[in-house]
Amino acid sequence: MKSFTYERATSPENAVAAAAHTPGARFIAGGTNLLDLMKLEIEAPEHLIDVNGLAFDTITPAQDGGLRIGALVRNTDLAAAAEIRRDYAVLSKALLAGASGQLRNKATTAGNLLQRTRCPYFYDTHQPCNKRRPGTGCAAIGGVSRQQAIIGVSDTCIASHPSDMAVAMQVLGATVETLTPNGQARSFPLTDLYRAPGETPHLETTLAAGELITSVVLPKPVGGKHIYYKVRDRASYAFALVSVAAIVQPDKTGRVALGGVAYKPWRNEKAEALLPEGGEAMANELLAEARPTAQNSFKVKLAQRTISMALAQAAY
Ligand code: SF4
Repeated sequence: MKSFTYERATSPENAVAAAAHTPGARFIAGGTNLLDLMKLEIEAPEHLIDVNGLAFDTITPAQDGGLRIGALVRNTDLAAAAEIRRDYAVLSKALLAGASGQLRNKATTAGNLLQRTRCPYFYDTHQPCNKRRPGTGCAAIGGVSRQQAIIGVSDTCIASHPSDMAVAMQVLGATVETLTPNGQARSFPLTDLYRAPGETPHLETTLAAGELITSVVLPKPVGGKHIYYKVRDRASYAFALVSVAAIVQPDKTGRVALGGVAYKPWRNEKAEALLPEGGEAMANELLAEARPTAQNSFKVKLAQRTISMALAQAAY
């Protein structure tokens, strides 16, 4: 690991100011992904700003009957919160489907959203990877690609986003709140946090350098049956091949988001409008842009069947 300097932020304003004035700075909270990346020298921040002491560790009522989840709320605490289990059960289920108990105890809400891909070539520094080193190529294209994305891919990167939590937040219509480097508050839909790989897969989010996520806001509960169904290579502690977050209402309307298939949780409201016609029509529309490799073309059928399974579980 390369040497770095370290400080503890004493306020959000102090944290973003420190990031703005220190080249190569990164925020750190749970560190469950960043520390691994630093040990492998995939990331080598020159300065770490520890934000663990900031007061972003609570879940509080938001306007219009929603909930504001602080960026530092640990995944374990979020999954167990009574209001999450009661009104946003898909989120609790998704969290509990991810990682391990020990990791969930450390991992934070913001860190979960910002975790980086688990593409094996990204973590193997002997392999070409446009995301790790722009312009070097993509070992996954033409390589082992069964875990990779099938939607929103480009000729430079086919990595998928690994988060389960983000898939549930996407189906719930979450909003991200941040503090920009000049101290301004900003909020935007979660779906706008992630950038498509395009020609620049190393640019993964729309955050400015030094912009700090402060919270995630869930709109007021929508009721319905909440399902999170995750298909993976082993029963626990594995990333999704395909996951489905679904909220279904008694009149058969609803929402569906997919995990494990794209650079971000994949949701399409045009597809959801087809839900009353049945899961197959909805799945076909949702997967219409799929561009799989020979090794992961099975994900198209797997996604269709996982959607059917989730909708069957949600049936009234
Ligand atoms: Fe790197 Fe993306 Fe290719 Fe994986 S899929 S090797 S992360 S460029």
